[in-house]
Amino acid sequence: MKTVTILGATGSVGSSTLDLIEREPDRFEVFALTAHRDVAKLAAAAIRTRARVAVIADETCLPALREALAGTNIHCAGGPEEVCRTADLGADWTMAAIVGCAGLEPVMAAVEQGGTVVLANKEPLVSAGDVILAAAAHHGATLLPADSEHNAIFQCFDAAQAGRVRRIILTASGGPFREWTTDQMRGVTPEQAVAHPNWSMGAKISIDSATMMNKGLELIEAARLFPIPTDRIEIILHRQSVIHSMVEYIDGSTLAQLGPPDMRTPIAHCLAWPDRMETPMAPLDLVSIGRLDFEAPDPVRFPALALARHALDAGGAKPAILNAANEIAVAAFLARQIGFLEIAAIVADTLDRYDPPAPDTLDDVLMVDTEARRLAGERVKDCVA
Ligand code: NAD
Ligand code: MG
Repeated sequence: MKTVTILGATGSVGSSTLDLIEREPDRFEVFALTAHRDVAKLAAAAIRTRARVAVIADETCLPALREALAGTNIHCAGGPEEVCRTADLGADWTMAAIVGCAGLEPVMAAVEQGGTVVLANKEPLVSAGDVILAAAAHHGATLLPADSEHNAIFQCFDAAQAGRVRRIILTASGGPFREWTTDQMRGVTPEQAVAHPNWSMGAKISIDSATMMNKGLELIEAARLFPIPTDRIEIILHRQSVIHSMVEYIDGSTLAQLGPPDMRTPIAHCLAWPDRMETPMAPLDLVSIGRLDFEAPDPVRFPALALARHALDAGGAKPAILNAANEIAVAAFLARQIGFLEIAAIVADTLDRYDPPAPDTLDDVLMVDTEARRLAGERVKDCVA
């Protein structure tokens, strides 16, 4: 029996994780589930899975959670520090599926208890990659990547032969505006931007996919996870989302991982690792897919790609600034305060205006994150005015 905690259990990745573990009750036992505000969904999942603990990050929702779980013996708690405390309680396997840097401290808490921590939540790795990796090494935690591209690379990357890897090739679907001109993108609505052609995901990552900032964040994520010079990580457009990424070796061999565009495959890989487990999806039908297309991404229409590459190359605080400004800009776009093209413009502006020393500790990262959010928030106000 593996004990499982899901941080962000009510979201898209959290729900996919629950779907898999509920199919194998003899193999997985739910320890704790956490959510931000969705009491009904959290309580229902906690009851179904007989979780021991349910935590709601927004403390004002705790009375409602208590009421929803009255008569059960599920322990209830509320507040961000309770999410961290629960992450630190020693489940064998923790899914980090909170969205954004709100997941940073819970991820650190999970890492510090030394079990297996599965990272869907990419923003903490972008902002605080070095701090998280150092803590994982120190506490003997195992980090596994659930992001489909990084899971694909993990499956193809022979760590013992890292010096023989020539390139990592990250694939990108290109999002809903892959073929749109910049002018056409100027007027897009949040509804158009969240409608991803291949994947069903939470709102924030769907917007990131539309701007291609998601691939920029994933570039930085790959650089954190795999020991290879950053100029050897390339991005290629592959509209079918069948190949989830590739690793090329110096002898000309390129290894790819293929699968349906469904997060349950990479999550299952992390759930069972180093074993394998069944998933309910139909096998990949390559004959009906028929063809796989590839093209180079367009850096002019998708400036987020170059911003992320520059932040990665500059290092220090820049990836944390990139991520924080993007979170603010995406939230403002979803709230209809700014236009679609202003997302990347606000990120670029915040990166230009703010140049603090490289953060060494979690507290340093959180300070950079807070200040970058403040600066990006000022630009949002300028756009609204
Ligand atoms: P989502 O919006 O569907 O779910 C987010 C979850 O986090 C919810 O359970 C929510 O309650 C919780 N949450 C939100 N804000 C919180 C806060 N302040 N404190 C505590 N909990 C909070 O998001 P998602 O699409 O499941 O994505 C989660 C993470 O996984 C993101 O970092 C995303 O980039 C990454 N990811 C998602 C997918 C996907 O297919 N959805 C694929 C790869 C990576
Ligand atoms: Mg991905």
